[in-house]
Amino acid sequence: MSRVLIADDDRISCKLLGSLLTKWGYQVEIVYNGVDAQRELLKPDAPRLAILDWMMPGLDGTQVIKAVRAIHREFYTYVLLLTSKGQKEDILEGLDAGADDYLKKPFDAQELRARLRVGSRILDLERRLVCALETAEYRATHDFLSGIYNRAAILELLKREASRCERASQQLSVLMVDVDHFKVINDTYGHLVGDQVIKQLALRMASALRPYDLVGRFGGEEFLVLVPNCALSAAMVVAERLRLSIATDKMAIGQFAIPVTVSVGVSTIKEAKLDMNLALQAADLALYEAKSKGRNRVECYVPSEPATKSTSSEDFPCLKG
Ligand code: GH3
Ligand code: MG
Ligand code: MG
Repeated sequence: MSRVLIADDDRISCKLLGSLLTKWGYQVEIVYNGVDAQRELLKPDAPRLAILDWMMPGLDGTQVIKAVRAIHREFYTYVLLLTSKGQKEDILEGLDAGADDYLKKPFDAQELRARLRVGSRILDLERRLVCALETAEYRATHDFLSGIYNRAAILELLKREASRCERASQQLSVLMVDVDHFKVINDTYGHLVGDQVIKQLALRMASALRPYDLVGRFGGEEFLVLVPNCALSAAMVVAERLRLSIATDKMAIGQFAIPVTVSVGVSTIKEAKLDMNLALQAADLALYEAKSKGRNRVECYVPSEPATKSTSSEDFPCLKG
């Protein structure tokens, strides 16, 4: 049932209008001045449809409309202005203030009803557009298969988190997670089962992380996890928890119980000048190390410590090609 706000200082008009609208199936809310109308319409759960009298004490109808239009909100308010001012200039002024429609008093009930239907149609269209935009935005930032962030989104988040941590003088840890011998899983159980493994992996990782950690699908069977405000030693603990969340129990997919393990490479950005590319390269290098040491394990790489290795891109042969 659509909710409508009626604002008119004439209580008898309000009552008549209210009972008409109730008869037509609207849920009516009534206020008797512009100040109350403005307050009600600026609430987060305000009615989307409003019938405002032009001449009211405190704030008049056009002032209320201007205030409502001045604040950018997720939803639109459709406003019909009721006025005894019938001159062309008045109408133009009302529409210029942001009214969607107007009706001259005394109004014809059937005409009002038809105009409210136009308002409802426009609001319905707006709702569907917002919904379509949200869907498009979701699709652009999320991985279709697993529902977690996609590569572009997680890299964007890495950029954002890196500069946020830099401002707050915090460390940011980066985990590169890669499924071990995933090709064998595909070859043994088929590609569709492989897809289900990726879905379950994403779920298990998300539940092993804190709500403010971020996880995205970096590539085929590779995931990137961002752990904000987390030093290397703590990140190693997170990575180990994550590894165990996958390795401990086999994945039940259809009639299969599939043992799945991951290798994890960890790096931490901690310099005043945070370099996210270096952090990614370091995590990848650590992952490479975990793979070569036998898989199903966590390794770290600290690019800022020359004693370990130098940080030139020449030192990341595993990234080339
Ligand atoms: P390693 O332990 O060295 O990482 O071995 P691996 O077999 O996991 O690595 P490799 O890079 O040789 O193979 C990865 C495989 O992942 C190959 C590719 O077909 C598969 N893959 C990538 N994306 C998907 C996907 O979305 N679904 C499925 N089922 N398979 C995928
Ligand atoms: Mg792999
Ligand atoms: Mg891989």
